[in-house]
Amino acid sequence: MAFSEPMSEASEVLRRVFGYEEFREGQQEIIEHVVAGGDALVLMPTGGGKSLCYQIPALVRKGVGVVVSPLIALMQDQVDALRALGVRAWFLNSTQDPDERRTVEAAFAAGELDLLYLAPERLRLESTLRLFDRADISLFAIDEAHCVAQWGHDFRPDYLALSVLHERRPDVPRIALTATATPATHQEITARLSLADARHFVASFDRPNIQYRIVPKREPKRQVLEFLRTEHPGDAGIVYCLSRASVEKIAAFLVENGVTALPYHAGLDPATRAANQARFLREDGVVMVATIAFGMGIDKPDVRFVAHLDLPKSVEGYYQETGRAGRDGLPSTAWMAYGLQDVVQQRKLIDSSDGDAAHRRRLAAHLDAMLALCETVECRRVRLLAYFGQEGGTACGNCDACLSPPESWDGTVAAQKVLSTVVRLLRERRQKFGAGHIVDILLGKKTPKIIQNDHDTLTVFGVGTDLSDAEWRGVVRQLLAQGLLAVEGDYGTLVLTDASATVLRGERQVPMRRDPARTAPKAAKAAKAGRAAAPELPEEALPVFERLRAWRAATAKEQGVPAYVIFHDATLREIATRVPGSLAELSSVNGVGESKLAKYGQQILDALAAPQD
Ligand code: ADP
Ligand code: ZN
Repeated sequence: MAFSEPMSEASEVLRRVFGYEEFREGQQEIIEHVVAGGDALVLMPTGGGKSLCYQIPALVRKGVGVVVSPLIALMQDQVDALRALGVRAWFLNSTQDPDERRTVEAAFAAGELDLLYLAPERLRLESTLRLFDRADISLFAIDEAHCVAQWGHDFRPDYLALSVLHERRPDVPRIALTATATPATHQEITARLSLADARHFVASFDRPNIQYRIVPKREPKRQVLEFLRTEHPGDAGIVYCLSRASVEKIAAFLVENGVTALPYHAGLDPATRAANQARFLREDGVVMVATIAFGMGIDKPDVRFVAHLDLPKSVEGYYQETGRAGRDGLPSTAWMAYGLQDVVQQRKLIDSSDGDAAHRRRLAAHLDAMLALCETVECRRVRLLAYFGQEGGTACGNCDACLSPPESWDGTVAAQKVLSTVVRLLRERRQKFGAGHIVDILLGKKTPKIIQNDHDTLTVFGVGTDLSDAEWRGVVRQLLAQGLLAVEGDYGTLVLTDASATVLRGERQVPMRRDPARTAPKAAKAAKAGRAAAPELPEEALPVFERLRAWRAATAKEQGVPAYVIFHDATLREIATRVPGSLAELSSVNGVGESKLAKYGQQILDALAAPQD
């Protein structure tokens, strides 16, 4: 006879407070370990569900859970979201006035909180530490733990003070969490936070609902507009650009074309930045055009796409940025336009960067890994996971390489043509040129620059009419990506590398990726395949879903909180599909916990029963 096991307290909290039926992969083990008082280091991808790993133990254990987080600008939202669930959460950071801080500190000391979010710089204050001495503390959670790693991209000096937590209160369990899982970061976090004796949990880094696509860059502005229009009309998303200037340009262009887009970069004044971020979080369907200054800790669950118009500097960066899409588990797209100019620009940036040779070598290694991902003819996801040490995956069926497999071709002869043009210009003319001019020579174009320099008399002039301009640019790009060609100086002139000679002498084959032709139908097919991964909203549920969304927007506005704090899209979709007729039925919907049921249950039922117009 089957009998059900008594539900653990953690599962009970998951259902009652958060309204979720099941733990996600890894969560239960981590939570049970921390509830039992163990230390933990948690590596989980963005959107994997790290927050519950400390929030639930903090609720189950006695005392207040202290969460150290560098994301001051987001603490208010995090706390709002928890309060909406009936959790007694508060924060302490520099944005508060002394009175408010004193109130929070008093509540903390009196044990009247479940969770306290804390900016790391507060650990430098003796007053904060004194608070910890006497209080009943359930756990210390260290969010974004990679900020303690000095060589990483997000190093925060304040994080070095975190060792004080353990010194002051060795009896309190610690849980450190991060989405950056390369072996080097993992090691440094372990050492700096003295977590060698902690249990290490490494979750799968796969985000199956995200479709990865990298397309050849042609006219990036038009391409991103088309991508938005055909695949994500009305959806919220982020468009990443490298420079402030391009952020402004692209945002303006999208607005001109009817997209609700806002700019975000470090050059905007703080008030505008904060206002734009708030609109992105609070309104439905806003597109944020931003530099990578935007996004860390943004836990908006319904970001439907992340588009890159410039190449990220590393696979870690790419994965973190794209990971901001689809936290709610619904189909989402990570789309990137990538071209020759990206490689030239990134190589130049490295050459002109501050720091010693070792630093530049590290940057170059990061870039090489990113380029290898862009140029692969194999499944992007398999590549990505292998990069994070999770080898042996099978082709995913939900990336561009799987959906429309690119061909590879033998580019050896083409490579030799490019390289010998560079050689001849240097040997015969003592000249160096950029990619555009080299391609013109190969194509035999009589441009003013060619005539003026007498380049139509070179033996390589016109030897490349078998390929198109775009194809030649692809060849040059791949030579740069493979380190068989290099760029130099401000004008990005092409020069040989040590490895070039082996190609010129015919000792080395150069396999290349054939860029897929520009075909819209393929993109459409890809989008459809992605959607198939999640339950499609039935036709008749659509108007109901829209009605619920309108109710949610009004409620969120009234309360001054982001819409997803009320309910996630995924929850509204389930309600629209199942159309529960009673509070009891409604309570079984994923994402409807006790507190939200009490607060909104009747309103939802009323909205469902309202006559259709
Ligand atoms: P991370 O911090 O790892 O990036 P979050 O903790 O913000 O991820 O979780 C991502 C999203 O997944 C959030 O919207 C969260 O509410 C949701 N989520 C987390 N755990 C579960 C679960 N067990 N069931 C359903 N949704 C969950
Ligand atoms: Zn794939």
